[in-house]
Amino acid sequence: MPIENDRRPDDLIQPFRIDPFALRGRLVRLGPTIDRILSQHDYPEPVATVLGEAITLAVVLAGALKYDGVFTLQTKSDGPVRLIVADVSTEGAVRGYAQYDRERLDAVPKNGAGKSGASPSVPELIGKGYIAFTVDQGEDTERYQGIVELIGATLAECAQHYFRQSEQIQAGIKLSVARAGENGAWRAGGLMLQRVPPEGGYKVIADDVEDGWRRAMVLMSSATPGELVDPELPPRRLLFRLFHEDGVRVFETHPIEARCRCSRERIVRILRSFPKDDIDDMRQDPVTTVTCEFCNTSYEFTPDDLAPLDS
Ligand SMILES: [Zn+2]
Repeated sequence: MPIENDRRPDDLIQPFRIDPFALRGRLVRLGPTIDRILSQHDYPEPVATVLGEAITLAVVLAGALKYDGVFTLQTKSDGPVRLIVADVSTEGAVRGYAQYDRERLDAVPKNGAGKSGASPSVPELIGKGYIAFTVDQGEDTERYQGIVELIGATLAECAQHYFRQSEQIQAGIKLSVARAGENGAWRAGGLMLQRVPPEGGYKVIADDVEDGWRRAMVLMSSATPGELVDPELPPRRLLFRLFHEDGVRVFETHPIEARCRCSRERIVRILRSFPKDDIDDMRQDPVTTVTCEFCNTSYEFTPDDLAPLDS
């Protein structure tokens, strides 16, 4: 495996395979991308960390799908962090935001969230609710949606639960988000291992392949949260360190970048779709300001901007 060919150390999906055990996997590394998204908002550390995990999870999962459009991960729940949205386009543009309740968040016991090595606990931070995965491939296609109850201590565990329940796919996921870059910049890493269903289904799995799966899961869990986000440890070197004895093969990487899809035109279109009374109310104000929840960009509209279109 050509380790020195790591042209791009960050903001990528690195697919790999472990052929002897029929395993597929992806390593996700986010540097400037995750720092940009999390820094666009003034989130408290635990909120930034859990949003970072959700974004990394969305990228890890999107890399497993064949789709042309937008993959969205969303949680909705009764905890201090009541909503998380993260989406990834086929081109690799990611964005995300969280909604939370400051007072309730302050009441959560501090358990080291935000530091390398500690993931915020889903029950404490997010509470009870669900996690939904949506694939939107444009207007004339059917939306795929999968929903599952939030069960697990971490978002990675919740996603594994989802796969067991709804997709009957055996998958292992590991996520890490921390301030580990220069000047305390946010970094994130994610690993997913997935079993490729054998011909004839899982019933005919040979013992050694079964052992291989267990072995690969143990090796995956041996990756420390620090290694997953280490700026000095290139993705291929990390994979080699974990799986070299089993013959890991890497494939071409896919780039990821922080990019919002909001625009003045899109927001005007949304505002115009509101009931006429609401639009009339807005036009009473000299300026209507709309802020994109994803990227925090503010757009200003005058009553003229919102005037009815000639029909
Ligand atoms: Zn935006």
